[in-house]
Amino acid sequence: MPIRLLAPEVASQIAAGEVIERPASVVKELVENALDAGARTIAITVEEAGRKLIEVADDGCGIPSNELELAVSRHATSKLVRSEDLFFISTLGFRGEALASIGSVSRMTITSRVKDAKEGARIRVEGGMAGKPAKVGATVGTIVRVEDLFYNVPARLKFLKTDVTERRAIDSLVTRYALAYPEKRFKLSEGKNVILQTAGDGDRRSILAALYGVDVAKQMLEVMAEEDGYRLTGFISPASLTRSNRKEITFFINGRWVQEVALNTALLQAYHTLLMVGRYPLTALFLEMNPRDVDVNVHPAKAEVRFRDQDRVFSFVQRSVRKALLAYSPVPNVAPSLWGTVRTTPSEEKSSSVGLDWAIGHDEGVGGGRLGVGSDQLSVNSDQLSVNSEQVIVNRQSEIVNRIPLMRLIGQVGGTYLVAEGPDGLYLIDQHAAHERVLFEKLMAQHERQNIPSQALLNPEVVTLPPGAAQLLLNQLPILSRFGFDVEEFGPNTFRVRAIPILFAGSDPASALRAVVEDFEEDETPLQNEVEARLAARVCKRMAVKGGQTLSSEEQRALLNDLETCESPRTCPHGRPTMIHLSVDLLERQFGRRGAR
Ligand code: ADP
Ligand code: MG
Repeated sequence: MPIRLLAPEVASQIAAGEVIERPASVVKELVENALDAGARTIAITVEEAGRKLIEVADDGCGIPSNELELAVSRHATSKLVRSEDLFFISTLGFRGEALASIGSVSRMTITSRVKDAKEGARIRVEGGMAGKPAKVGATVGTIVRVEDLFYNVPARLKFLKTDVTERRAIDSLVTRYALAYPEKRFKLSEGKNVILQTAGDGDRRSILAALYGVDVAKQMLEVMAEEDGYRLTGFISPASLTRSNRKEITFFINGRWVQEVALNTALLQAYHTLLMVGRYPLTALFLEMNPRDVDVNVHPAKAEVRFRDQDRVFSFVQRSVRKALLAYSPVPNVAPSLWGTVRTTPSEEKSSSVGLDWAIGHDEGVGGGRLGVGSDQLSVNSDQLSVNSEQVIVNRQSEIVNRIPLMRLIGQVGGTYLVAEGPDGLYLIDQHAAHERVLFEKLMAQHERQNIPSQALLNPEVVTLPPGAAQLLLNQLPILSRFGFDVEEFGPNTFRVRAIPILFAGSDPASALRAVVEDFEEDETPLQNEVEARLAARVCKRMAVKGGQTLSSEEQRALLNDLETCESPRTCPHGRPTMIHLSVDLLERQFGRRGAR
C-alpha cells in the first residue's frame, strides 16, 4: 500500500484513544475543565454508566461564543501560550486536546455563556465533525453533554467493562476530586439518583465518609505537614486498616490526581514493618509544591509526573506519613462478645488513650526509676539523643504516644506467651513476635549508628546453599557485612561465616544466613534502606525465641523490659501484633461486675 496522510477523523480518533479510554476519562477531563474555569459548583449526570450520557455543568467563567469553534479543535487551549509556560503549569489542562478528543468519539454538545454576554451559544460535534455555533439562552457557565460515547469506535466499546465497573470508576473519580477540592460543591447523579453531593464547606472528613463509608472514615488518621516549600495534607489509614491491593492509595499533586510510583514507594516505606506482607494502606493525600518543581507534561492523561528533586519529595512524604502513623498504634483488644477473637475497633482509641495518660504521667513522675532498670538501656537512650535534633523530635513524639506502659510480669503460659499486668488490665505477649521486634530495633539502631558489634566464631561455619539461593546471598553480602556478618565465598555455592552480630551470639549462624535468602522476592523498587530493613527483619525473625520455648524468669523479664523501650512495641517487624490487651473494664464486664453489655 502506498503511504498516505491519515484522514483527519482517523488521526483524531487515534489521538483520542490516548486520552479517552473509558467513560471515567471523559468525566475527568470535563471536571478538570470546570475546575480550571473557576467553577464553584460542578454537577455531573451520567446515564447507563456514561455510555449513553455524561453531562457536566459548571458555573465557571464560560467560553465566549466566538471561541466555541476553536475550543473543540485540536491543540486549542487558553491555558498555555509559549513553550516556556510548559515548565510552570498551574492549570489542570494545557494540552488543548480533551474537547477535540471527546468530540471525535461521541456526539457532544457544548452550551456556554460568559458573564458579560447577553446570551450564550451552543455548538455540536458529531464524530469529530463540528457544526456552526448557534446563539441560545443560557446561564453563565458551561454545560458539556456527551452522548453515545464510542458510538463510532466499536472496538473501544467492546473493551469497556460491565456497567457496575465503569460506574464505580466514575464514582470513585468524582469522590476523589470532591475530596481534593472540599471548597467546591460537587453533585453526581446517575439518572435521577443523586450518588454524591458535597457541601463545599471545606470539610474533608464528611467527604471521606462518602468515599470509604463512615466506619472507615472514622479510623483514618489526618496528615498535615509542611516543610520548605512542600505541603502534605489528607488522610491515611492506621496500620490495622488495610487492603490487599494498592487501589485505595490516592495521591494528588497540586490538585491533580496522579499515579506516581515514587510516591507510592515513599508511602509504603513509611508503613514499613507495620503492615503484614501483601497488605496496603488506604490514603487520600494531597501534595502541594511549586509548579516549577514538577513536570506534568510526561503522560497524555497527565497521570504521571516527574519531580525536579525526587529524593527530597520522597523523603518529605515518607517522614510526614511515618510521623502521623507512629502517633497512633493501638493494641488489639479482645472483643467483649467474642472471646478468643482479636478485633480492632475504633473504640480502642479510648483504651489506648488511658494507657497514654498513664505513660505520660509516669514518664514525668517516676521517670528516674525507669532509667534505673538497666544501665545499658540508659546508654542507648543517650546515644539516640545525639543523632540529630529533628530525629529526636520524631522519636520523642512516637515514644510518648506509641510506647507501651510499664508492666508487672506475672509469668509464661504454654511456653509461648508472657502474661503481664499493666495500669489498665492484663496483657498477653507473644514472646516470639515481641523478641523479633526487640532484636529488629536494636539491630537497626546499631546499624544507623554504623556500629554493629560482631563476634568472631571460634569455629567458622560452612554453609552450602542451592545455586539460586547462593546467587541471591552473594548479592546481599555487602548488606550483610554492614549488619555485622563476616561471610565469605568458600567454593561454589558455599559460604563460610566467620563472625555474626553480638546481638545474635549463641544462635545458629547457618540459620541466620539461610534466613537472608529464604522467600526472598525481588523488590519492585529496591530502595537501599528498605532492602536493608527487610533483610534485618528476616534475620531477626529467624533468631528470635520461638513459641514453645521455656524462658527463665530473668529472660522473661529482660524481654518485657526490652519491649518497653521499643519505638513500635505493638507489632512485630512483619506487622503482626505482639500483644493482646484485656482491659480492666472488659474483665469487669465479662465477670458481670459492671453494667449490662
Ligand atoms: P485544555 O483544558 O487542555 O486547555 P480542552 O480541550 O479541555 O483543553 O479545552 C479547550 C479550551 O476550552 C480550554 O483551554 C478552555 O479555554 C475552554 N474550556 C473548556 N471547558 C471549559 C469550561 N468548562 N469552562 C470554560 N472554558 C472551558
Ligand atoms: Mg481540559
